[in-house]
Amino acid sequence: MLQRPIFRIDQAQFDRLQRQSCAPDRQAVLQALSSAKPDFTDLQALLSPAAAEFLPQMLARATQLKRQRSGLTLSLFAPLYLSNLCSNECSYCGFSRSVAVKRRILTVDEALQETAAIQALGISQLLLVTGEHERKAGVDYLLAMTQALRPQVAKLMLESQPLAVRDYQQLRVAGIDAVMLYQETYDPQSYARHHTFGAKADMAYRLDAPARVAAAGIAQLGMGVLLGLADWRTDVLLLAQHLRFLQQHWYQLAFTVALPRLKPCAGQSTQQSGVSDRDYLQLLCALKIFAPELSLSVSTRDSPQLRDLLLTSIACSASAGSKTQPGGYTVAPQSLAQFSIDDERSPAEIAAMLRRSGIQPVWQDWHPLLGRSSV
Ligand code: SF4
Repeated sequence: MLQRPIFRIDQAQFDRLQRQSCAPDRQAVLQALSSAKPDFTDLQALLSPAAAEFLPQMLARATQLKRQRSGLTLSLFAPLYLSNLCSNECSYCGFSRSVAVKRRILTVDEALQETAAIQALGISQLLLVTGEHERKAGVDYLLAMTQALRPQVAKLMLESQPLAVRDYQQLRVAGIDAVMLYQETYDPQSYARHHTFGAKADMAYRLDAPARVAAAGIAQLGMGVLLGLADWRTDVLLLAQHLRFLQQHWYQLAFTVALPRLKPCAGQSTQQSGVSDRDYLQLLCALKIFAPELSLSVSTRDSPQLRDLLLTSIACSASAGSKTQPGGYTVAPQSLAQFSIDDERSPAEIAAMLRRSGIQPVWQDWHPLLGRSSV
């Protein structure tokens, strides 16, 4: 039997890259900006402090690349939180098992009501989100939800606990079009410090999860880190290396990247990422210049001002009108939310903003009647 390729990272590698992260000078940045095909050395330069003064040029280049690939469009989706049950302890998350919040897991009927409420907002591309609870929100629950919701919507994406290849295969057949997996951080020490209990404490299993999604034949893979857990320059560089590794082995896979910043949540009301809006813009532009084929996704965690800039320049997709708690579109109180939201505008308001800027909002990428390539 053929062995699946494994992506590995160790502390010495992370520390070495972190030591190098501030070394590039202006010359290295200029070279990276003039390169037709930037490599990892160029990406390191674009992520470095020396690149900060070139932010306008980086934004212009990244915007041009986005428009060459995806035109003047932006795809809109909404998260549907199915459950806030979680058996893990993550220092930064309001769903952690020890946080005293009311727990809820939606039934199929409740999820259908939520879907109808989201569709009433004009959105037909859903990201199903669960806390990580293998027993109560395991693959059987996810399959039941997928089978019930798939006929109702144009696209169904999933963000749940990492699963086995055979589980992802079943979900693909049932109708999951894309899987989103956050590594959180590539720094082993930081990973261990922030994930202290439950299956998520196994960093190697999580690191291998994107390859399991790819091996299951799912068409689109979303990846990301949580900015603020470790050195962001090194985390973004290693995310790019992970992505290139996957592309080398599964060339047909489409990639989305989302890079949320640490925010206050239940139990952690003051935590911040330490990543400024300028840093954030710089790292997103650097990634887009390095890998133009990437689709950058932006969530409602960011401010309306910053989102307006990102959504009309380098982003390919964005959530809109999001509620980050199970039942949030119909009845649940905000107190169950996973994290606080900055952009509370409705999808219609986002769409109007896009149109004023000459960007076409895309409510569905692909018509279900045309079939699915991933089945
Ligand atoms: S980040 Fe995910 S795994 Fe960790 S506590 Fe929150 S929901 Fe659970």
